[in-house]
Amino acid sequence: MSSLALVAMCPKSYNALRGNPVNFRSPALPCPMPHPWLSARSAAFDSSGIRKVFDLAAKMTDPINLSIGQPDFDVPEGARKALVAAVNSRKNGYSQTQGIAPLLEKLQAQVVAEFKHTNRKVFVTSGTSGGLLLAMMALVNPGDEVILFDPYFVTYEPLVKLMGGRAVLIDTYPNFSIDLDRVRAAITSRTKAILFNSPANPTGKVNSPAEVKGLAKLAAERNLALISDEIYSRFYYDNSFVSPAKFNDHTIVIDGFSKSYAMTGWRVGFAHGPAAVIDEMIKLQQYTFVCAPQPAQWACVAALGLNMQSHIDAYRFKRDMLVQGLSGLYEIAQPEGAFYAFPKVPQSSGAATASEFVERAIENQLLVIPGKIFSSRDTHFRISYAAENSTIERGIEVLRKLAKPK
Ligand code: PMP
Repeated sequence: MSSLALVAMCPKSYNALRGNPVNFRSPALPCPMPHPWLSARSAAFDSSGIRKVFDLAAKMTDPINLSIGQPDFDVPEGARKALVAAVNSRKNGYSQTQGIAPLLEKLQAQVVAEFKHTNRKVFVTSGTSGGLLLAMMALVNPGDEVILFDPYFVTYEPLVKLMGGRAVLIDTYPNFSIDLDRVRAAITSRTKAILFNSPANPTGKVNSPAEVKGLAKLAAERNLALISDEIYSRFYYDNSFVSPAKFNDHTIVIDGFSKSYAMTGWRVGFAHGPAAVIDEMIKLQQYTFVCAPQPAQWACVAALGLNMQSHIDAYRFKRDMLVQGLSGLYEIAQPEGAFYAFPKVPQSSGAATASEFVERAIENQLLVIPGKIFSSRDTHFRISYAAENSTIERGIEVLRKLAKPK
Protein backbone atom coordinates (compact mmCIF):
# COMPACT_ATOMS: atom_id res chain seq x y z
CA MET A 1 0.00 0.00 0.00
CA SER A 2 1.30 3.48 -0.82
CA SER A 3 2.07 5.99 1.91
CA LEU A 4 -0.65 8.15 0.39
CA ALA A 5 -3.19 5.41 1.01
CA LEU A 6 -1.90 4.90 4.53
CA VAL A 7 -2.21 8.58 5.31
CA ALA A 8 -5.71 8.55 3.90
CA MET A 9 -6.60 5.93 6.52
CA CYS A 10 -5.46 8.18 9.37
CA PRO A 11 -8.14 10.25 11.09
CA LYS A 12 -8.78 13.56 9.29
CA SER A 13 -8.00 15.62 12.37
CA TYR A 14 -4.56 14.01 12.54
CA ASN A 15 -3.78 14.80 8.93
CA ALA A 16 -4.94 18.40 9.41
CA LEU A 17 -2.67 18.64 12.44
CA ARG A 18 0.33 17.46 10.47
CA GLY A 19 -0.47 20.14 7.91
CA ASN A 20 0.64 17.91 5.10
CA PRO A 21 -1.44 14.85 4.52
CA VAL A 22 0.77 13.32 1.84
CA ASN A 23 4.38 13.71 2.95
CA PHE A 24 4.89 10.68 5.15
CA ARG A 25 8.59 11.46 5.53
CA SER A 26 8.02 14.84 7.18
CA PRO A 27 9.29 14.91 10.79
CA ALA A 28 6.42 12.75 11.73
CA LEU A 29 4.02 13.17 14.48
CA PRO A 30 3.32 9.50 15.01
CA CYS A 31 -0.24 8.63 14.08
CA PRO A 32 -2.00 8.97 17.44
CA MET A 33 -4.48 6.19 16.68
CA PRO A 34 -3.55 2.70 15.59
CA HIS A 35 -4.28 2.29 11.91
CA PRO A 36 -7.62 0.48 11.58
CA TRP A 37 -6.04 -2.35 9.61
CA LEU A 38 -3.41 -3.20 12.20
CA SER A 39 -3.71 -6.39 14.19
CA ALA A 40 -3.90 -6.20 17.95
CA ARG A 41 -0.83 -8.47 17.87
CA SER A 42 1.22 -5.82 16.11
CA ALA A 43 -0.18 -2.83 17.97
CA ALA A 44 0.57 -4.48 21.32
CA PHE A 45 4.14 -3.18 21.57
CA ASP A 46 6.24 -0.20 20.64
CA SER A 47 9.19 -0.11 18.24
CA SER A 48 12.51 -1.11 19.84
CA GLY A 49 14.05 1.77 21.80
CA ILE A 50 17.46 0.63 20.57
CA ARG A 51 16.49 1.66 17.05
CA LYS A 52 15.68 5.14 18.35
CA VAL A 53 19.25 5.48 19.67
CA PHE A 54 20.64 4.17 16.35
CA ASP A 55 18.56 6.76 14.46
CA LEU A 56 19.94 9.44 16.74
CA ALA A 57 23.51 8.19 16.17
CA ALA A 58 23.04 8.53 12.42
CA LYS A 59 22.31 12.25 12.86
CA MET A 60 25.22 13.03 15.22
CA THR A 61 28.71 14.00 14.08
CA ASP A 62 31.43 11.95 15.76
CA PRO A 63 29.35 10.41 18.56
CA ILE A 64 31.03 8.22 21.17
CA ASN A 65 29.05 5.21 20.16
CA LEU A 66 28.90 2.51 22.83
CA SER A 67 25.37 1.45 21.89
CA ILE A 68 26.00 -1.06 19.12
CA GLY A 69 25.36 -4.76 19.62
CA GLN A 70 27.71 -6.07 16.98
CA PRO A 71 31.45 -6.77 16.84
CA ASP A 72 33.71 -3.97 15.65
CA PHE A 73 36.07 -6.41 13.90
CA ASP A 74 35.58 -7.42 10.28
CA VAL A 75 34.17 -10.67 8.90
CA PRO A 76 37.24 -12.97 8.61
CA GLU A 77 38.80 -12.99 5.16
CA GLY A 78 38.20 -16.71 4.60
CA ALA A 79 34.46 -16.21 5.09
CA ARG A 80 34.33 -13.11 2.90
CA LYS A 81 36.11 -14.97 0.11
CA ALA A 82 33.80 -17.95 0.46
CA LEU A 83 30.76 -15.69 0.14
CA VAL A 84 32.13 -14.03 -3.01
CA ALA A 85 33.07 -17.42 -4.46
CA ALA A 86 29.56 -18.71 -3.79
CA VAL A 87 28.01 -15.72 -5.53
CA ASN A 88 30.37 -16.05 -8.50
CA SER A 89 29.79 -19.78 -8.83
CA ARG A 90 26.07 -19.01 -9.04
CA LYS A 91 25.03 -20.40 -5.67
CA ASN A 92 22.46 -17.66 -5.47
CA GLY A 93 19.18 -19.50 -5.38
CA TYR A 94 17.14 -20.91 -2.54
CA SER A 95 18.85 -23.61 -0.54
CA GLN A 96 17.02 -26.48 1.03
CA THR A 97 14.91 -25.11 3.86
CA GLN A 98 17.02 -26.84 6.52
CA GLY A 99 20.28 -25.48 5.06
CA ILE A 100 23.01 -26.54 2.62
CA ALA A 101 24.35 -30.05 3.23
CA PRO A 102 28.03 -29.11 3.93
CA LEU A 103 27.00 -26.63 6.65
CA LEU A 104 24.45 -29.00 8.17
CA GLU A 105 27.04 -31.82 8.25
CA LYS A 106 29.62 -29.66 10.03
CA LEU A 107 27.10 -28.35 12.53
CA GLN A 108 25.61 -31.78 13.19
CA ALA A 109 29.11 -33.25 13.78
CA GLN A 110 29.93 -30.41 16.19
CA VAL A 111 26.69 -30.88 18.13
CA VAL A 112 27.03 -34.69 18.29
CA ALA A 113 30.63 -34.36 19.54
CA GLU A 114 29.62 -31.84 22.19
CA PHE A 115 26.42 -33.33 23.57
CA LYS A 116 26.39 -36.97 22.47
CA HIS A 117 22.57 -36.96 22.42
CA THR A 118 21.03 -39.57 20.17
CA ASN A 119 18.07 -37.48 19.15
CA ARG A 120 19.60 -33.98 18.74
CA LYS A 121 18.96 -32.51 15.30
CA VAL A 122 20.35 -29.33 13.73
CA PHE A 123 19.08 -26.96 11.07
CA VAL A 124 20.15 -23.62 9.63
CA THR A 125 18.01 -20.58 10.44
CA SER A 126 17.76 -17.06 9.15
CA GLY A 127 19.80 -15.57 12.00
CA THR A 128 19.38 -16.32 15.67
CA SER A 129 16.34 -14.05 15.49
CA GLY A 130 14.79 -16.40 12.93
CA GLY A 131 15.47 -19.40 15.19
CA LEU A 132 13.92 -17.66 18.18
CA LEU A 133 10.78 -16.76 16.25
CA LEU A 134 10.36 -20.29 14.90
CA ALA A 135 10.86 -21.80 18.36
CA MET A 136 8.19 -19.50 19.77
CA MET A 137 5.83 -20.28 16.89
CA ALA A 138 6.37 -24.00 17.34
CA LEU A 139 5.85 -23.99 21.10
CA VAL A 140 3.72 -21.14 22.43
CA ASN A 141 -0.07 -21.16 22.33
CA PRO A 142 -2.15 -18.09 23.13
CA GLY A 143 -2.40 -17.82 26.91
CA ASP A 144 0.80 -19.78 27.54
CA GLU A 145 3.32 -18.29 29.93
CA VAL A 146 6.99 -17.98 29.08
CA ILE A 147 9.50 -17.27 31.84
CA LEU A 148 12.11 -14.59 31.09
CA PHE A 149 14.93 -13.36 33.29
CA ASP A 150 14.81 -9.59 33.81
CA PRO A 151 16.85 -7.91 32.32
CA TYR A 152 16.33 -9.79 29.06
CA PHE A 153 17.28 -9.35 25.40
CA VAL A 154 15.02 -6.76 23.79
CA THR A 155 13.11 -9.07 21.43
CA TYR A 156 12.05 -11.67 24.00
CA GLU A 157 8.99 -9.96 25.40
CA PRO A 158 7.59 -8.89 22.00
CA LEU A 159 8.18 -12.43 20.68
CA VAL A 160 6.11 -13.93 23.48
CA LYS A 161 3.38 -11.32 22.95
CA LEU A 162 3.36 -11.99 19.20
CA MET A 163 2.32 -15.55 19.97
CA GLY A 164 -0.43 -14.32 22.29
CA GLY A 165 1.61 -15.60 25.22
CA ARG A 166 2.38 -13.90 28.51
CA ALA A 167 5.94 -13.07 29.54
CA VAL A 168 6.54 -13.80 33.21
CA LEU A 169 9.55 -11.83 34.39
CA ILE A 170 11.93 -13.03 37.08
CA ASP A 171 13.97 -10.22 38.57
CA THR A 172 17.70 -11.03 38.71
CA TYR A 173 19.09 -7.74 40.03
CA PRO A 174 21.66 -6.90 41.36
CA ASN A 175 24.07 -9.63 40.19
CA PHE A 176 21.88 -11.25 37.47
CA SER A 177 22.19 -14.77 38.90
CA ILE A 178 19.34 -17.24 38.71
CA ASP A 179 17.49 -17.89 41.93
CA LEU A 180 15.89 -21.31 41.40
CA ASP A 181 13.36 -20.72 44.17
CA ARG A 182 12.07 -17.72 42.26
CA VAL A 183 11.83 -19.79 39.09
CA ARG A 184 9.92 -22.51 40.96
CA ALA A 185 7.55 -19.90 42.39
CA ALA A 186 6.89 -18.46 38.92
CA ILE A 187 5.87 -21.79 37.37
CA THR A 188 2.11 -22.25 36.94
CA SER A 189 -0.08 -24.70 35.08
CA ARG A 190 0.13 -22.31 32.08
CA THR A 191 3.94 -22.19 31.94
CA LYS A 192 5.15 -23.57 28.63
CA ALA A 193 8.76 -22.46 28.33
CA ILE A 194 11.75 -20.80 29.90
CA LEU A 195 13.84 -18.55 27.66
CA PHE A 196 17.42 -18.39 28.87
CA ASN A 197 20.42 -16.42 27.58
CA SER A 198 24.01 -16.82 28.74
CA PRO A 199 26.41 -15.07 28.07
CA ALA A 200 23.75 -12.42 28.29
CA ASN A 201 22.68 -9.32 26.51
CA PRO A 202 22.43 -6.71 28.13
CA THR A 203 24.31 -7.68 31.32
CA GLY A 204 27.36 -9.64 30.13
CA LYS A 205 26.46 -12.24 32.76
CA VAL A 206 27.74 -15.80 32.30
CA ASN A 207 25.71 -18.06 34.54
CA SER A 208 27.72 -20.60 36.56
CA PRO A 209 27.58 -24.34 35.73
CA ALA A 210 25.66 -24.90 38.99
CA GLU A 211 23.00 -22.32 38.05
CA VAL A 212 22.70 -23.69 34.52
CA LYS A 213 22.45 -27.27 35.78
CA GLY A 214 19.80 -26.29 38.33
CA LEU A 215 17.70 -24.56 35.69
CA ALA A 216 18.12 -27.39 33.19
CA LYS A 217 17.07 -30.01 35.73
CA LEU A 218 14.11 -27.94 36.94
CA ALA A 219 12.84 -27.54 33.36
CA ALA A 220 13.15 -31.31 32.86
CA GLU A 221 11.37 -32.11 36.15
CA ARG A 222 8.47 -29.78 35.34
CA ASN A 223 8.33 -30.80 31.66
CA LEU A 224 8.93 -27.25 30.43
CA ALA A 225 10.61 -26.34 27.17
CA LEU A 226 13.97 -24.75 27.87
CA ILE A 227 15.07 -22.46 25.05
CA SER A 228 18.72 -21.43 25.31
CA ASP A 229 19.91 -18.46 23.26
CA GLU A 230 23.64 -19.13 22.87
CA ILE A 231 24.56 -16.46 20.34
CA TYR A 232 27.40 -15.21 22.60
CA SER A 233 28.67 -18.66 23.58
CA ARG A 234 32.19 -17.99 22.24
CA PHE A 235 32.47 -14.64 24.02
CA TYR A 236 33.55 -15.50 27.57
CA TYR A 237 36.54 -14.05 29.36
CA ASP A 238 36.90 -15.83 32.69
CA ASN A 239 35.06 -19.11 33.17
CA SER A 240 33.86 -21.01 30.15
CA PHE A 241 30.24 -21.02 29.13
CA VAL A 242 28.17 -24.13 29.82
CA SER A 243 25.04 -24.95 27.82
CA PRO A 244 21.95 -26.24 29.65
CA ALA A 245 21.78 -28.86 26.89
CA LYS A 246 24.64 -30.59 28.77
CA PHE A 247 22.18 -31.36 31.58
CA ASN A 248 18.86 -31.56 29.77
CA ASP A 249 18.65 -33.49 26.47
CA HIS A 250 15.49 -31.64 25.48
CA THR A 251 16.97 -28.14 25.57
CA ILE A 252 16.31 -26.19 22.39
CA VAL A 253 19.49 -24.30 21.55
CA ILE A 254 19.35 -21.23 19.31
CA ASP A 255 22.74 -20.10 18.07
CA GLY A 256 24.16 -18.04 15.25
CA PHE A 257 27.07 -16.71 13.24
CA SER A 258 26.26 -12.99 13.55
CA LYS A 259 28.45 -12.22 16.54
CA SER A 260 31.09 -14.99 16.39
CA TYR A 261 32.15 -14.02 12.88
CA ALA A 262 30.90 -10.41 12.82
CA MET A 263 28.41 -11.14 10.05
CA THR A 264 25.25 -9.62 11.52
CA GLY A 265 24.02 -8.56 8.09
CA TRP A 266 24.35 -12.00 6.53
CA ARG A 267 21.53 -13.53 8.55
CA VAL A 268 22.63 -17.05 9.36
CA GLY A 269 21.96 -18.91 12.56
CA PHE A 270 21.27 -22.48 13.59
CA ALA A 271 19.13 -24.33 16.05
CA HIS A 272 19.38 -27.77 17.58
CA GLY A 273 17.19 -29.77 19.85
CA PRO A 274 14.87 -32.78 20.01
CA ALA A 275 14.04 -33.86 16.45
CA ALA A 276 10.28 -33.57 17.03
CA VAL A 277 10.58 -29.84 17.82
CA ILE A 278 13.25 -29.13 15.22
CA ASP A 279 11.19 -30.79 12.45
CA GLU A 280 8.29 -28.53 13.37
CA MET A 281 10.55 -25.45 13.24
CA ILE A 282 11.83 -26.51 9.80
CA LYS A 283 8.24 -26.88 8.62
CA LEU A 284 7.48 -23.35 9.84
CA GLN A 285 10.64 -22.03 8.15
CA GLN A 286 9.22 -23.24 4.80
CA TYR A 287 6.29 -20.89 5.25
CA THR A 288 8.21 -17.92 6.65
CA PHE A 289 11.92 -17.36 5.93
CA VAL A 290 12.12 -20.21 3.33
CA CYS A 291 15.87 -20.57 4.01
CA ALA A 292 18.89 -18.60 5.21
CA PRO A 293 20.67 -16.67 2.40
CA GLN A 294 22.56 -19.30 0.42
CA PRO A 295 25.85 -17.45 -0.30
CA ALA A 296 26.15 -16.59 3.40
CA GLN A 297 25.66 -20.26 4.30
CA TRP A 298 28.72 -21.12 2.17
CA ALA A 299 30.64 -18.41 4.00
CA CYS A 300 29.65 -20.07 7.28
CA VAL A 301 31.10 -23.40 6.13
CA ALA A 302 34.44 -21.61 5.75
CA ALA A 303 34.00 -19.60 8.96
CA LEU A 304 33.49 -22.69 11.13
CA GLY A 305 37.14 -23.69 10.75
CA LEU A 306 38.58 -20.27 11.64
CA ASN A 307 40.25 -19.35 14.90
CA MET A 308 38.73 -16.19 16.38
CA GLN A 309 40.64 -16.27 19.68
CA SER A 310 42.58 -13.06 19.04
CA HIS A 311 39.28 -11.16 18.86
CA ILE A 312 38.05 -12.74 22.09
CA ASP A 313 41.32 -11.75 23.77
CA ALA A 314 40.90 -8.19 22.48
CA TYR A 315 37.38 -8.08 23.93
CA ARG A 316 38.65 -9.30 27.32
CA PHE A 317 41.08 -6.38 27.24
CA LYS A 318 38.26 -3.94 26.40
CA ARG A 319 36.10 -5.37 29.18
CA ASP A 320 38.91 -4.88 31.69
CA MET A 321 39.58 -1.39 30.45
CA LEU A 322 35.94 -0.38 30.85
CA VAL A 323 35.44 -1.96 34.27
CA GLN A 324 38.66 -0.44 35.60
CA GLY A 325 37.81 2.94 34.09
CA LEU A 326 34.47 3.08 35.90
CA SER A 327 35.56 1.49 39.16
CA GLY A 328 34.80 3.43 42.30
CA LEU A 329 32.10 5.46 40.57
CA TYR A 330 29.69 2.85 39.19
CA GLU A 331 28.21 -0.31 40.63
CA ILE A 332 28.73 -2.97 37.94
CA ALA A 333 28.08 -6.70 38.23
CA GLN A 334 31.30 -8.10 36.73
CA PRO A 335 30.59 -8.70 33.01
CA GLU A 336 32.13 -12.06 32.11
CA GLY A 337 30.91 -12.53 28.57
CA ALA A 338 29.21 -11.12 25.45
CA PHE A 339 30.43 -7.52 24.99
CA TYR A 340 28.19 -5.57 27.32
CA ALA A 341 28.32 -4.08 30.80
CA PHE A 342 25.17 -3.04 32.66
CA PRO A 343 26.07 -0.51 35.35
CA LYS A 344 23.66 1.07 37.80
CA VAL A 345 23.14 4.81 37.48
CA PRO A 346 24.87 6.26 40.53
CA GLN A 347 22.92 8.49 42.89
CA SER A 348 25.80 10.94 42.71
CA SER A 349 24.87 11.67 39.07
CA GLY A 350 21.66 13.35 40.26
CA ALA A 351 19.64 11.55 37.54
CA ALA A 352 16.33 10.22 38.84
CA THR A 353 16.12 7.44 36.23
CA ALA A 354 18.44 5.68 33.81
CA SER A 355 16.49 7.26 30.94
CA GLU A 356 17.29 10.71 32.31
CA PHE A 357 20.93 9.69 32.75
CA VAL A 358 21.12 8.46 29.15
CA GLU A 359 19.69 11.79 27.93
CA ARG A 360 22.55 13.53 29.71
CA ALA A 361 25.05 11.10 28.22
CA ILE A 362 23.67 11.87 24.76
CA GLU A 363 24.02 15.60 25.42
CA ASN A 364 27.70 14.75 25.97
CA GLN A 365 27.89 12.88 22.64
CA LEU A 366 27.87 9.47 24.36
CA LEU A 367 25.42 6.86 23.10
CA VAL A 368 24.45 4.12 25.53
CA ILE A 369 21.11 2.34 25.96
CA PRO A 370 18.71 2.90 28.87
CA GLY A 371 18.03 -0.27 30.83
CA LYS A 372 14.25 0.01 30.65
CA ILE A 373 14.45 -1.25 27.08
CA PHE A 374 15.52 -4.60 28.54
CA SER A 375 13.80 -4.50 31.87
CA SER A 376 10.89 -3.45 34.02
CA ARG A 377 13.40 -1.26 35.90
CA ASP A 378 14.77 2.09 34.75
CA THR A 379 17.87 2.05 36.95
CA HIS A 380 20.72 0.72 34.81
CA PHE A 381 22.13 1.32 31.34
CA ARG A 382 23.87 -0.84 28.75
CA ILE A 383 27.35 -0.12 27.48
CA SER A 384 28.62 -2.07 24.47
CA TYR A 385 32.40 -2.26 24.45
CA ALA A 386 32.50 -3.68 20.93
CA ALA A 387 34.27 -0.49 19.89
CA GLU A 388 37.74 0.93 19.28
CA ASN A 389 39.81 1.29 22.46
CA SER A 390 40.00 5.04 21.86
CA THR A 391 36.17 5.23 21.74
CA ILE A 392 35.93 3.28 25.00
CA GLU A 393 38.41 5.71 26.58
CA ARG A 394 36.34 8.70 25.47
CA GLY A 395 33.21 7.00 26.83
CA ILE A 396 34.87 6.38 30.20
CA GLU A 397 35.82 10.04 30.41
CA VAL A 398 32.20 11.16 29.88
CA LEU A 399 30.83 8.56 32.28
CA ARG A 400 33.28 9.58 35.00
CA LYS A 401 32.21 13.18 34.55
CA LEU A 402 28.48 12.27 34.68
CA ALA A 403 28.91 10.25 37.88
CA LYS A 404 30.49 13.06 39.83
CA PRO A 405 28.30 15.34 41.90
CA LYS A 406 27.97 18.83 40.44
N1 PMP B 1 19.92 -13.02 20.83
C1 PMP B 1 20.65 -12.10 21.48
C2 PMP B 1 20.84 -12.26 22.94
C3 PMP B 1 21.21 -11.01 20.79
O1 PMP B 1 21.94 -10.11 21.44
C4 PMP B 1 20.99 -10.91 19.39
C5 PMP B 1 21.55 -9.78 18.58
N2 PMP B 1 21.73 -8.59 19.19
C6 PMP B 1 20.21 -11.89 18.77
C7 PMP B 1 19.70 -12.93 19.51
C8 PMP B 1 19.90 -11.83 17.29
O2 PMP B 1 20.99 -12.19 16.53
P1 PMP B 1 20.94 -12.49 14.97
O3 PMP B 1 21.71 -11.39 14.30
O4 PMP B 1 21.65 -13.79 14.79
O5 PMP B 1 19.54 -12.54 14.57
